[in-house]
Amino acid sequence: MENRIPVYQPTLLGNERKYVNECLDSTWISSKGKFIAEFENAFANYINVEHATTVCNGTVAIHLALLALGIGSGDEVIVPTLTYIASANAIAYTGAKPVFVDSLADTWQMNPADVRAKITPNTRAIMAVHLYGHPCDMQTLKEICKEYDLFLIEDCAEAIGSLYKNQHVGTFGDISTFSFFGNKTITTGEGGMVVTNNYYLYERATHFKGQGLDKDRQYWHDIIGYNYRMTNICAAIGLAQLEQIDSFLSRKIEIAALYKEAFKNSEISFHAEHADVNSSYWMCSILVPKPYQRDLLCAYLASQGIETRPLFYPVHTMPMYANGFAKHAVAEDLGLRGINLPSYPSLSNEQIRFITDAINIFIGESKSTTLSKHKVLDKILN
Ligand SMILES: *Cc1c(COP(=O)(O)O)cnc(C)c1O
Repeated sequence: MENRIPVYQPTLLGNERKYVNECLDSTWISSKGKFIAEFENAFANYINVEHATTVCNGTVAIHLALLALGIGSGDEVIVPTLTYIASANAIAYTGAKPVFVDSLADTWQMNPADVRAKITPNTRAIMAVHLYGHPCDMQTLKEICKEYDLFLIEDCAEAIGSLYKNQHVGTFGDISTFSFFGNKTITTGEGGMVVTNNYYLYERATHFKGQGLDKDRQYWHDIIGYNYRMTNICAAIGLAQLEQIDSFLSRKIEIAALYKEAFKNSEISFHAEHADVNSSYWMCSILVPKPYQRDLLCAYLASQGIETRPLFYPVHTMPMYANGFAKHAVAEDLGLRGINLPSYPSLSNEQIRFITDAINIFIGESKSTTLSKHKVLDKILN
């Protein structure tokens, strides 16, 4: 469709082209070159952390963070079930077991009371995931980690620009990760970052990232490492993206405000932003009142050229993690009623109006039609 509104698209209007051309002109296109260190330094500076190391995507960033902490077979890592699959898979890669916790109904973030309930003698770490750009309750999670002597990992893939009590997420835990996939707030195409204030963890992460190469001896490898390096080209794009982050974030916050305003008198609800957090609104997401309305609304919006995504399916419901008949009622409910709306910075106010009008019409229609969902669909699509 011609006027199709995607759920996300990157904005590449800064120095991306210039810096990438510098890579090409200089022939430094692989994982050595000046943009790697420049991007890492600028990034560490931006979130205010001691050490940052680039990697080739956000999934391996999490794997590397876990390896740096020495997590492996026999260990348990507590993770929210309502997250992107990569958070759980990276735990499984190490041989450790992901232990899922439910979400809070208001912020949609991991429930600290459930975290407490899931701690066993095998628990080594808690992985906080700042879902859709809203920070987790870091104070409580930090207290729990201290009390039980657990590592704290932050998966900040969706949360660059998010603050908890005016401190950037990713600086609360022992080690944290970011993603720069094409739909993330800043992108390098594929890419990620591991950050920490602990030099020892930084050293371990970079050692694993670079094939376990000995620092002082060429072609001597003392562990089974990985090639998780980012290219200079990706770092060049990342640096250019980071230069524009303030404008991306302020526009995303405006977009969230426009959505909230448009739905304030409707049955559509948003996740709550508590006073001590600043959400970066990676994805603006809504809940429809009834699960059956969700897919119907998405189909209707698709018919209008508006692309949406369902909220994540809780990971504990997927075949490879569905054992023990676990029930996470809040995450399951959110997963069935939630929709990600288009949320990219170059979205115009007119486009947002078009989207919110379409949603309000749908919700109004489906309310006045008290009969079956087939009727609703008939009425709306015909
Ligand atoms: C995007 C994302 C990742 C990592 O994704 P990559 O595509 O590998 O960069 C990890 N966790 C969460 C919560 C994400 O949204």
